[in-house]
Amino acid sequence: MKLFTVGPVQTYPDVRDVYQYDIPYFRTTEFGDLVKNNLRRLAGLLGTEYKDNILYFTASGTGAMEATVQNCFSPSDKVLIINGGSFGHRFCELFAWHNIPYDSIDLEWNQALTAEHLAKFDNAGYTALIVNLHETSTGQLYNIDVLRDFCDRNNMYLVVDAISTFLADDFAMDKNHIDITIFSSQKGLCLSAGLSFVACSQRMIEKIKQNPKPASYYFNFADHFNNINRGQTPFTPAVCIMYELDRMLTLIERVGKDQWLRTIADKCHYFREKALKCGLAIPNTYPLSNMLTPVRFDGVSAYDVFLELQNKYRIFVNPCGGDLGTKMFRVSHIGNTSIADIDDLLEKMQICVNELKQKDNK
Ligand SMILES: *Cc1c(COP(=O)(O)O)cnc(C)c1O
Repeated sequence: MKLFTVGPVQTYPDVRDVYQYDIPYFRTTEFGDLVKNNLRRLAGLLGTEYKDNILYFTASGTGAMEATVQNCFSPSDKVLIINGGSFGHRFCELFAWHNIPYDSIDLEWNQALTAEHLAKFDNAGYTALIVNLHETSTGQLYNIDVLRDFCDRNNMYLVVDAISTFLADDFAMDKNHIDITIFSSQKGLCLSAGLSFVACSQRMIEKIKQNPKPASYYFNFADHFNNINRGQTPFTPAVCIMYELDRMLTLIERVGKDQWLRTIADKCHYFREKALKCGLAIPNTYPLSNMLTPVRFDGVSAYDVFLELQNKYRIFVNPCGGDLGTKMFRVSHIGNTSIADIDDLLEKMQICVNELKQKDNK
């Protein structure tokens, strides 16, 4: 079996190895120290120097997205959301659900976000920009310089869902004046699903204090801040994944962040070059993250190819949602996959495409 999915991804043996051992109890200084150490190491990878500013939750990424909406914003805010696909749309739904005023920049699936899109919203009283920096549903990676400049000149908070770009593309939180970075265990970190993280800037921590009673009891940031300096959480966390995280950080630190990202970039470029040579089509109207490659199909259904790969070979790729489902699927480049695995995937993809075409001709 091989996972070329966006998350959970193909995992590393060193990480799975934690399950060989007993997992200690968590209300201990031993576990608190492990957590604090992990969060300090994550801060280094995120490029943030604020102290005790990363909270974590036992929830998938959407839990951290909703917790951010509830704790960082109130009906007196007005936010602007980049809605370039299903994850941007999810933010629109969350802000609507919590009755916080928002407008959105709605993009077609193949339309690149430009500085001109944003300029139309200058000096219009928005308090924050909300963006999924890599819109995983299409593969578009937005330009952080453009987003940062827009927020700087309009004195807005910058909230970044980096779930599918952190540890796949370059990422620098403080340097880009990012006030919230959301990420989760099952994407770039290549761990089990179940933990999500919110890193806050100092000025966002001040803003959160103005909202002492968020709608959620479980995701109350103030309560989490009161515990995190000891490496604890108000409620029982997914303890095992914290141990997985320790192993993963060691793997990344062994080669260094730059080399880690370079390996992903190499797999990504290798796949794209070879896919094009095989006659496959890759969208080129917008910038792509190194985390994944969308592949367009003509003459066969992308969804049927996805099913064949899964059923015949136990190779998993990501189908696209909605109308795109029959036209495109996504191949991820994160996780424990090799160049040989990519060769195998492309070979099997071609076999599936040819078989499906022959079937159609009969
Ligand atoms: C995966 C992902 C999420 C979170 O999805 P969950 O299923 O809740 O983990 C959020 N935003 C983006 C951009 C993602 O890729």
